[in-house]
Amino acid sequence: MLKKANAANIQNWLDKINTYNSTPDFGTTRVLFTECEIEAREYVKSEMKKLGLIVREDSIGNIFGTLVGSQPNLPLVWTGSHIDTVLNAGMFDGMAGVVGGMEALRLIKESGIKFNRSIEVVVYTSEEPTRFGLCCLGSRAMAGHLTLEDTKKLKDENEKTLESVLTDLGYDLDKFKDIQVKKGQVFGAIELHIEQNNKLEKKGLPVGIVKTICAPTNYSVEVIGCQSHAGGTSMEDRRDAYTASCEIALILEKLALKCNSEYNTATVGRVEVIPNAVNVIPGKVKFSIDIRDCEFETKTELIEELIKEIKKVEEKRGVEVNLIKENNDVPMKCDQTIVDILRESCEEKKIPYDMMISGAYHDSMFVGEFTPVAMIFVPSKNGISHSPDEWTDYEDIALGVDVLAKSLLELSNKEKL
Ligand SMILES: [Zn+2]
Repeated sequence: MLKKANAANIQNWLDKINTYNSTPDFGTTRVLFTECEIEAREYVKSEMKKLGLIVREDSIGNIFGTLVGSQPNLPLVWTGSHIDTVLNAGMFDGMAGVVGGMEALRLIKESGIKFNRSIEVVVYTSEEPTRFGLCCLGSRAMAGHLTLEDTKKLKDENEKTLESVLTDLGYDLDKFKDIQVKKGQVFGAIELHIEQNNKLEKKGLPVGIVKTICAPTNYSVEVIGCQSHAGGTSMEDRRDAYTASCEIALILEKLALKCNSEYNTATVGRVEVIPNAVNVIPGKVKFSIDIRDCEFETKTELIEELIKEIKKVEEKRGVEVNLIKENNDVPMKCDQTIVDILRESCEEKKIPYDMMISGAYHDSMFVGEFTPVAMIFVPSKNGISHSPDEWTDYEDIALGVDVLAKSLLELSNKEKL
């Protein structure tokens, strides 16, 4: 019989991981391969070993803790998440899934119940794009979308390449190809994560089962107008790059609001105004566009519409707009059989749940390219995440872990999906 997850265990691990933090006075900051992130990796590896897991690491620093099953040659069952953060984040995003996975494996091990497939907790390298500007480095490489060549091009703010950072840390880049996971190697994966929205809290539910993970499309936009004197240039003569940018941002918002997909968002989150002075009409503005949708088709339609509207802004305001597409990812549908296993686990354990869409992306988006995936959400207080105010009750994580442990066990003993 599986015991109930221990909230105090979960809290201890989370509190300890949270001490590896480069901004202890304002939230949690743990950026890929900085001192505190490396220390947190060592801590997680040592705790995995204490649980009796076999620990290995690949050439981009993805960490695997294996609980060996009775038929270790069968394709593996995975769970896990990430331990890196954005700047001044909270202590749950990612970490809840790593610690939750460790607790689930402890429960399975201590239950004495026979399980066939080996089960692994995976810590994916750099889910957040904080250091190299690209998200999901570890799982992206697993899916074959990040090559050794790419690591030579990715640079941090000090112009250091990912390749050189990995080399300095002693990762064997001759084995970079081995990171890629072939189809059939992993039987299925379940990621536990905080919701990062307020839907569960509003309904008073402890668990959400994700049916689709929205995928982002990102653009860098450069608007070129004419830099000129704020007083000397009359209103009809100016080619203001900033007001043109504002108009584009408002068009984007309008398109997102009228889009009839089940869930979508559009955000201008970073803006750089040049020269950024009180008495100068901005000659150039650079900004980011982040569009997410649970359907690739509706997202594509929105983008086509946006490009048409931008052309009109160019003509009307006499500016030039350059759109650079950074990525255009495809939303991930969770596997119906694993979703059903999660629902049955909730029902058996009498844990109330709801089906939901994940607006944020997760490593599961890339893992889903080579194996069936599903996700368990636990509530975020006030829906806040990527903030020092991020909070999830340890008891809620424990309920999520109860569902996770039961479902991992089911997967481990299942013949096929
Ligand atoms: Zn996360």
